Amino acid sequence: MRLKCKVVVQPATSNFKQKAAQGFIAVGKAAGSSSKDETASFELLVTTAKNKTGSKFNLSKSNVLMIHDRFVGDGKLTIQMKQPRSDIFISEGNVGALTSFVKTVRSILSGGCVAPLSRTQACTSSDFQPRKSQLIVTQRENYPHEGFPKTLEDLRLNGINIKRVDGRWFSLRQLTQLDLSNNVLGEAADFAKFTDVSRLISLQSLNLARNHLHHLPLSFWRSLPASLNRLDLSGNELERIPSELCRLVKLVHLALNDNHLIELPEELGLLNGLQALNVSHNRLRHLPATIFWLSSKQMKLFDATANHPDLFARSTDISPPAADGGVASLLELAAAVVKTQGMSTSVLPWDVRRYLMTSISRCAWCRKYRAPSSMYTVQSVCNLSRKFSTITTQNQQGTFVQCIGSLCSRLCRDYV
Ligand SMILES: [Zn+2]
Repeated sequence: MRLKCKVVVQPATSNFKQKAAQGFIAVGKAAGSSSKDETASFELLVTTAKNKTGSKFNLSKSNVLMIHDRFVGDGKLTIQMKQPRSDIFISEGNVGALTSFVKTVRSILSGGCVAPLSRTQACTSSDFQPRKSQLIVTQRENYPHEGFPKTLEDLRLNGINIKRVDGRWFSLRQLTQLDLSNNVLGEAADFAKFTDVSRLISLQSLNLARNHLHHLPLSFWRSLPASLNRLDLSGNELERIPSELCRLVKLVHLALNDNHLIELPEELGLLNGLQALNVSHNRLRHLPATIFWLSSKQMKLFDATANHPDLFARSTDISPPAADGGVASLLELAAAVVKTQGMSTSVLPWDVRRYLMTSISRCAWCRKYRAPSSMYTVQSVCNLSRKFSTITTQNQQGTFVQCIGSLCSRLCRDYV
């Protein structure tokens, strides 16, 4: 198993910090052991263009000091070896490939069963020749019907009237960008196959703008890789966005403009890494009050231009709690404890997290958790420019918009 990455071997005895170079790290059976040998010893081999024969390290429990894999999600890994005493720094690795690399190394160290590995091999000059990592197709006759290069990281198929989902897109494990904008996937009879996008665990950017999409099933939203930081669904005919969108907490750019959206999911405020949010040219009558949880420092573009006139109305409407002073259910109390104490729910399946989330409401002002039956529902005018200097609404009243949210008490209600 060989992984392309930036790599440097830093001897512990050297104070001189060496620079990482483009190269490979391989794990496999050590030279001299037969590939059928059950008791074969394993090794790590680090090769770069300058050092093609590479540096070898015996891979055994007694020779590995530590594996630092906290930042595998960022393509980084550090392995500390005892003999010779050195640190192997890996960066810019493909997240999917690096994850399975760590898994293989760990299973060798624990003596567990490992997938059949061949012997490690030194690299050759051809390994350093550029591989096809980007493919842009804008003419129908150029569609690669025979297949896609496996090394693709950036695939763009634009404006070529694609009406069918090609399952081969989702076998490109190194893909970080998939741009299918300006097609007609909304008319694809086999659109259900798009859920295979979940196989692209390194995908960072997905563009489905202008594709005649009018309804996206829950299975679609649930299949979107958690690694996504850019999602463009603009120029479609979407009316609703489910709360499953807010599972994508790494999102930085979210484009939902030019759709038919009536409302946004209440949990939108959970996407606190957002730097650009475009919800312009929809039919929004209000925004969820949780948008005030988004980071004002990070937000560089927030566009709510051209929505329903009600979005810019100056009225206030307060619905009192269903059970003012009533008793919360056991489930509501349990959910409040889990949430208030900040217990980690990241290991729970999304469905259980959503269950916890929907059995409890959070005050849009003080952010305390309370039983939904004891909350006030308030729709009121909020001045977005007080929070976001980057807001664009282009209406005569300035940056005042209607926000809807739940508030826990009369005290919080009076702040609105
Ligand atoms: Zn409150």
